[in-house]
Amino acid sequence: MNRQDNISARALELLRKFYGYRSFRPGQREIIEAVCSGRDAVVLMPTGGGKSLCYQLPALLGDGCAVVISPLIALMEDQTAALVSNGIPAAAIHSGRNEADNRTAIEAAAAGRVKLLYVSPERLLADLDTWPSRLPISLIAVDEAHCISQWGHDFRPVYTQLSVLKEQFRSVPVMALTATADRLTRDDITTQLGLRDPLRWVGSFDRPNLSLKVYAGATKKRRIEAIVNMIRRYPNDSGIVYTLSRAGAEEIDEALRRMGMRSCVYHAGMNADDRARAQRAFTNGDVQAVCATVAFGMGIDKSNIRWVIHNNLPANIESYYQEIGRAGRDGMPAETILFYSVQDLITRRHFIDDSGRPGIAGEKLEWMQRYAESTVCRRRVLLSYFGETAEHDCGNCDVCLDPPSRFDGTVLVQKAGSAILRTDSQVGIFMLTDILRGSARAELRRRGFDRIKTYGAGRDLPQEHWNAYIAQMIQLGLFEIAFDDSNRLRVTPYGMRVIRGEARVELSLYVAPQRGKTGRQKAEQRQITSDPTEQLFEQLKAVRKAEADRTGVPAYVVFSDATLTDMARRRPRTIDELLQVSGVGERKSVRYGKRFIGAIRKFEGLGATMPQGTTYKETLILHNAGVPLGEMAQIKGVSVETIKGHIARLIDEDMITNFASYISRSEYETINDLYRTNPEGAAKILSEDYPGGTIRIARAIYNYNQRRKQDNG
Ligand code: ADP
Ligand code: ZN
Repeated sequence: MNRQDNISARALELLRKFYGYRSFRPGQREIIEAVCSGRDAVVLMPTGGGKSLCYQLPALLGDGCAVVISPLIALMEDQTAALVSNGIPAAAIHSGRNEADNRTAIEAAAAGRVKLLYVSPERLLADLDTWPSRLPISLIAVDEAHCISQWGHDFRPVYTQLSVLKEQFRSVPVMALTATADRLTRDDITTQLGLRDPLRWVGSFDRPNLSLKVYAGATKKRRIEAIVNMIRRYPNDSGIVYTLSRAGAEEIDEALRRMGMRSCVYHAGMNADDRARAQRAFTNGDVQAVCATVAFGMGIDKSNIRWVIHNNLPANIESYYQEIGRAGRDGMPAETILFYSVQDLITRRHFIDDSGRPGIAGEKLEWMQRYAESTVCRRRVLLSYFGETAEHDCGNCDVCLDPPSRFDGTVLVQKAGSAILRTDSQVGIFMLTDILRGSARAELRRRGFDRIKTYGAGRDLPQEHWNAYIAQMIQLGLFEIAFDDSNRLRVTPYGMRVIRGEARVELSLYVAPQRGKTGRQKAEQRQITSDPTEQLFEQLKAVRKAEADRTGVPAYVVFSDATLTDMARRRPRTIDELLQVSGVGERKSVRYGKRFIGAIRKFEGLGATMPQGTTYKETLILHNAGVPLGEMAQIKGVSVETIKGHIARLIDEDMITNFASYISRSEYETINDLYRTNPEGAAKILSEDYPGGTIRIARAIYNYNQRRKQDNG
């Protein structure tokens, strides 16, 4: 075997043992091999692509400790909790912990007892002269590396100082990982971190499990209905509603709660305690929805978010993609909706104009608009933005699933266009709809718009239809918005030709949000689930919630939805079978196995208790995983003495032959010497100095050695 094969084989073994996964995701193997042979790497993968494993496995394979730089405390905490529950020694150092804990973590790392040390960039840089130089650092991973670039959308000045790392730790491989980086940002990451000939991995941005929907022109009421519908479809899961403003978040939250939904708000205007509380409620699954500004999410590592809804148009495709990407990280189906309105487009434009950096931001917004108004497969638009070409329609976006029906919209254009002309191009989209719908609004009457010929000419269509159609007319280039002139609408020369009857125009038929075909079908499927696998899945979710509460970790740290789905399909009845489930590593099989297997056995009409002998078999799994005695007891929730009993029995049955860690040589000799000289009295005398379990182990080893002698003699 050459070196690379060797690395891969060992990495695969650890992947199975600690994480319970059987194969690598695209890119993971290549990246792990490169980093393990000392090479720098830039890893660009979408959220949920599996970036964490790309540095966690090299950390496990390497000597010493990997330092992971992460911008957010919550993220560090979640990651360490997940690692520890898989049996991987990890720790975090940051301002949210007290200094004694931080010092303990550093000492443990310096002593080689920590494989992954998470640290905030501020902290690492401030301490650079003290503890980092004492650590046996095997690897440095810079997470959310796009924060280093001013070109990116999430620039953090402190990141630019990380260039010192490559200077100070010359021989340590440095990895940069991010889910969002265009070309410019990517090159910037490499230069600024001073990476040398890094492996560049650009993963596919396709997230086929995310369904994409855009609804144009929906009224407030309609939006709330759609959100409530979504919540009802996933009553036991949670999702995120993103809004542009704090007030918007609060308004939706109130509306949802009035309708009996469990919801909370999150935005930067809240104090740190309230924000932490909201985040916890979300992570623990205590709320069904969090209504938030973009301040929410960076630190969210929850893999079972089933939906994300944008109440407003995001500023660019990167942000949009990152935000919807928080749904379905476990690879299971998840839904997204974007509510689109021309008004939002106008607001965004003004943000950009006020920012003084119109060029790039303006272009990015145009892409966002192109996506929102697309009449071709939306995923193809998204992927082309990231420089990928998709050869086929995705079949999982609203355009693919519900292709817009086209109709002759010439008359609508003529009505709207002549209304614009008759007001001398003095109105924006709101006033225009009001004129067409014949509103009696005071301002409209004051300006005399109720006397123009097209007043009320579009009364037959509801407001949201008009909103959507006017948006299309703008997109088609019939009208334009004068951003520099109070956002008034103007008719273009092309629009004039249509008004004069010299050209005809097709529009896409408006579809109201919750009447989307796919949504309704899914809702029906979910409500009456007679599928037994689905039923079992729901029961396993309840077990997961109970186990999460019992062990004090978030539900997704126990098992992901993908793991529960696989479990519901395979229905393991023993620990061995449980280990076959994707996402069940050795520790978790023992820590959580009993209750999940119990639920499955009950579901199958069998006795809820596992077959005889399962419990000492679990101990064997832990023994093989190299777990120390005390930790075995803690994982299994029994006493150390009980575990020692299992060990003795396993030695008796020749299932354990490397037992040196369970007893010292002198204990072994003292105990067995006494048995030789005083076989009758030994047990009683020894029991004063040694726990029963230790005596049993000593005797088991003695017998084992006797058996070996016989075999050899
Ligand atoms: P990212 O950091 O890129 O957003 P994560 O590393 O959090 O993604 O991985 C997303 C999910 O995919 C996690 O639940 C993780 O356990 C799972 N995952 C990662 N690698 C694999 C793999 N090789 N096989 C199965 N699941 C995986
Ligand atoms: Zn599509």
